[in-house]
This record gives sequence, C-alpha cells and structure tokens, in this order.
Amino acid sequence: MRPILASISLAALAHNLEVARRHAGGAKILSVIKANAYGHGLNRTARALAASDGFAVLNIEEAVSLRQMGMEKPILMLEGPFDAEEMSAYSELNLTPVLHSPHQLEWLRLVAEPLNVFLKFNSGMNRLGFSLADWEAILAHVKVQPQVAQVTLMTHFATADEELGIDWQWHHFQEKAKDACLPVSAANSAAILRYPETHNEWVRPGIMLYGSSPFADVSAAELGLKPAMTLKSEIISVQTLKPGEGLGYGLTFMADEETRIGIVACGYADGYPRHAQTGTPILVSGHRTRTLGRVSMDMLAVDISNIPEAGVGSPVVLWGEGLPVDEVARAAGTVSYELLCALAPRVAVREE
Ligand SMILES: *Cc1c(COP(=O)(O)O)cnc(C)c1O
Repeated sequence: MRPILASISLAALAHNLEVARRHAGGAKILSVIKANAYGHGLNRTARALAASDGFAVLNIEEAVSLRQMGMEKPILMLEGPFDAEEMSAYSELNLTPVLHSPHQLEWLRLVAEPLNVFLKFNSGMNRLGFSLADWEAILAHVKVQPQVAQVTLMTHFATADEELGIDWQWHHFQEKAKDACLPVSAANSAAILRYPETHNEWVRPGIMLYGSSPFADVSAAELGLKPAMTLKSEIISVQTLKPGEGLGYGLTFMADEETRIGIVACGYADGYPRHAQTGTPILVSGHRTRTLGRVSMDMLAVDISNIPEAGVGSPVVLWGEGLPVDEVARAAGTVSYELLCALAPRVAVREE
C-alpha cells in the first residue's frame, strides 16, 4: 500500500476547543467545520468537538450529514440559502441561516416554522452583508417577520489577524449594535485570541481548532494549540547526485556537491503544494531537513545528506506533529487553511 496517510488527532481537536473556550470567556462557541472541517473530516470533527455550543457550515449537504448523525445543536449556515428550495429545507432541519442579501429575505415566506437567523452586516470587508447605512430599515423589517424567531447580529473581520486590527470595522458595527439589544456574533479565531471586546454572545473559531495560528507572527505552539492533522509518508527510493547533476522536472535543483536524496511518496495530487520551493521544511526520521527541486504529482524529494540512517522506508512528516503546517504554508507562499482544505481524497485518513 502506498505509505501516505493523514492522521487526525481527536484529542488535539478537543484540546484546541478548550483553548478557544478559555479565551472566549462566556461566549458560546460555533465551531466552524466548513470545507470538510478544513480537510479533517466533517463527522469525525463534529464528534471530537461535541462540547461546542453549535456548528457552522456552508452547504446544506453538510448540515444534513450532521443532523443524520444525531447532532441536535444549532447549525449556522454561513452564507445562508443559495436558492428558495434550500430555505424551506432549513425549516425542516432546524438550521440557522445567515441572511446577508435582500433576495434571501424574500425566501423567508417559504419557511413553515419560525427560525433563528443571523443577520449579517457589511462593516468593511465588502463581501457579504447588508450595508450599515440600511441598518434600521433592515432590522425593523426582519424583526417583524412571523418566520423569524431570534435575530443575532453578525459581521466578519477582514484584518483581525493583521496589524490593522478590527477597530476600523468594529467601531461602526458596535455603534449600531449597542442600541439593538440583540445577541452579536463577530469573532473568528484571530479576534477570539486578540480582541475580547468582540466576543459577545457567539464566537466562530475555525483555524485555531485545527491547531494552526491565525497570525503570521505568533506560532500555534505559543498559543497553546496542538496540530490536529499530521500528514505522513515514507521514503520509497534513494538517489545520490554527483556535483553538477540535477533533480526532477525542470532540473530546478542542481547539486554543487555530492547530495543524498530521498524520494517521498507524496505529491501535489495528495494536496502537497506544488509551489513549495527548494528548502521547504520537512521531517525525515524525526530530523528536520529540506525539500529539493520541484514537487511532482506523486512524489517529492528531500535532502538526506545529513541523515545517514535515512533510507527506503524511513518515516516522513510533511506537516503536523513536530512540524507546524504554518511553516510549510509560508514556504509555499500560502496559508495553512489552503493546505489543510486541499488534502486530497486519495489520501487515507486515520483517527487517533
Ligand atoms: C470561515 C469563517 C470563520 C472561521 O474563520 P477562522 O479564521 O478559520 O477562525 C468565521 N466566520 C465566518 C463567517 C467564516 O466564513
């Protein structure tokens, strides 16, 4: 069997939820498990995070799957219904829509039983949400709809993880929200960790639950988070390059001295980033070393010149336990979110 494997630590997920809980104070936690729980598996992650107060997903299929496993807690639909039919299904499944656009308000007519809704306002990200200028009119309209039970006010931050912070958005949103006397949901992972004033009634942690840092300048370990996914494989071939010889497609790595190379059973078709340059960190037999040359579809190469005991069958960690996914993401010019979500269906997954 091809040796690549993603091992998912249920204990790490539960631990990271506790970290979120500690930071969130009294706020209730909607664990964000969209995109197959950032690649970790929807149902297993929901089980591991059973102590959450609710969950947030994107697709109705994800919500159906959670209800089928017997999960009765609130499920927030992060972009609300995509068509009128979905709105009526929300009613049967008791889902909580985010309502962000006028066309969704029209679909409320199709709801049989009153639903709790999150009313999303655009406070500066300019992606989804009603304009703050329309606040009074929208709120007055939604509050009196017979199909609406509890209204929660929601917004999303564009720069909670960056130096710019949240004040430029939070100030305007808060000005309006403080008079409305309704529950509020604003904080993602970065705001949970950095901006307690945004916690309010419901927080929405995503990336931190998976053990990755939302910040470029603070590591997951410094935040007390544990990696939930470890992507592992093995060396399946060893080569020795002489000075002047090159490696892989494009011969982008050229040896200037004798170089011992391990070929690892992991490539971009497994979800490893093709943009990872020579020098991307990787663990072989527990030793930190570097990738060499271009990542190909099913394989990549590592420098084992300084790891004499390494050979065919030596264990390799691509990211996770012992090697933060954030470091690999940085070397590939991306963020951990993209790497975790891109784990390919062909990679076997094992729960730990
Ligand atoms: C994905 C998402 C989150 C979670 O964000 P993280 O940065 O992963 O914590 C929170 N809120 C909304 C609206 C989202 O789409």
